[in-house]
Amino acid sequence: KKSALCEVKVAVIGGPGVGKSALSVRFLTRRYIGEYDHQSETRYKHEVLVDNEPVLYEILDTCPKNEEDLPSTETINWADGLLLVYSIIDRRSMSYLKRVGSLIANSDIPVYIVANKNDMVHLREVSAEEGAILARHFECGFSEVAAAEMVAPVAVVFQELCRAVLAARRK
Ligand code: GDP
Ligand code: MG
Repeated sequence: KKSALCEVKVAVIGGPGVGKSALSVRFLTRRYIGEYDHQSETRYKHEVLVDNEPVLYEILDTCPKNEEDLPSTETINWADGLLLVYSIIDRRSMSYLKRVGSLIANSDIPVYIVANKNDMVHLREVSAEEGAILARHFECGFSEVAAAEMVAPVAVVFQELCRAVLAARRK
């Protein structure tokens, strides 16, 4: 008998402080708390409907110790899809994702790029165009959001990644 519930494992990847925990918690609870005392990797399970089908997300909110601390092979192999997060007010966080890109260059794992902190445009260091260029390079979806501001665009990002994972499975 086919299992009714499809499972999608997502690793949330990005440099320190870009808002990985804020985005994960926003998606899970619809709330924005502001400070996230996550000193280590945190795992969550969350069931939602995607295109009217129940999907069980397993979310791994990764926790790099510094800019040099890239995700492990174990994490990448575990995941069905990667949510790659940078902050529009932190140029280093864009470089971090480019280095993650080299790590996964030979894999065909579905990814989605999120530019977070879109509420802070007055401090912008990375243009939307740069994000779009990176997304073309990865052949993946891209959007700018603010975990601090709204829940709907954050949920869309997780949905889009889920769709990419399910499409890859059907191949
Ligand atoms: P992580 O290290 O990637 O998990 O980042 P956190 O989720 O802990 O967020 C780091 C800091 O950025 C915290 O102070 C958050 O409150 C803040 N932050 C997260 N998302 C946003 C956002 O969309 N806008 C603004 N202005 N701050 C944010
Ligand atoms: Mg965190």
